[in-house]
Amino acid sequence: MSVADDAPVAVVTGASSGIGAACAMALAEAGFQVVLGARRLDRLAEVAERCGGRALRLDVTDQACVDAFAAAVPSCSVLVNNAGGALGTDPVAAASVDDWRWMYDVNVLGTLRMTRALLPALIASGDGQVITIGSIAAREPYRGGAGYNVAKHGVAALTRVLRIELLGQPVRVCEIDPGMVQTEFSLVRFRGDADAADAVYAGVEPLTAQDVAETVAFVATRPSRVNFDQIVMLARDQSSAQVVHRRPEVAAR
Ligand code: NAP
Repeated sequence: MSVADDAPVAVVTGASSGIGAACAMALAEAGFQVVLGARRLDRLAEVAERCGGRALRLDVTDQACVDAFAAAVPSCSVLVNNAGGALGTDPVAAASVDDWRWMYDVNVLGTLRMTRALLPALIASGDGQVITIGSIAAREPYRGGAGYNVAKHGVAALTRVLRIELLGQPVRVCEIDPGMVQTEFSLVRFRGDADAADAVYAGVEPLTAQDVAETVAFVATRPSRVNFDQIVMLARDQSSAQVVHRRPEVAAR
């Protein structure tokens, strides 16, 4: 895919898989020069090759790494804060502080570090956008979700405060909160247990990473007067965090 050298730049964090990789493709198709960040450079390079973007190593939990990444991206019109995830489904009574710390660091502080680092470039672009991938977990507490609920509620609070604080600046702020999306998310959450990850989606037709990416690209290409503040998107089979319609014919696929 070839994109004009003077096209606006979009940065996508966590672009080595799932929603981030799909966002990189969708934004390149929408005419952006895409800069992709994640820790697994081999996977990132493959996605960058497919979308004609640049792959740069990024660990959003490491301030020095975030600074080096931002220094390599002098101009930026869109930042997609997508890097994140969940670890475990322990009840509060048995919660792992280490898991909670990881979730808070990558989801909340990662979004903070990236937004802070790229905000000067976003403002300087004259028409910047911060698009943050939250979750239905930012809206509804659910059994076994506490650590992730806390982190994504934190992401939502950060994003909504940013929207208020940037009023009057040429930067739009959007929070997109998906429900179930079939990616590597559950494999990470269940620490590589593929059966446990597959059980999450059994009998359900979840959203695809591309469904979310198309929404990101839609938001990113609206006229600059238009700000989508918050979007919740769920599969038809999911009406809230843990209310899911499972169908035998889908399980049999
Ligand atoms: P995924 O396939 O596991 O992708 C997660 C991405 O985050 C990977 O590219 C991973 O890349 C990156 N990442 C993790 N830690 C990172 C770090 N420290 N620094 C930089 N990148 C990091 O899962 P996904 O579903 O696409 O998740 C994307 C976002 O959507 C997350 O914020 C997640 O919470 C949110 N979300 C997912 C769902 C769902 O059901 N799938 C629903 C709602 C919201 P590396 O490992 O290569 O660094």
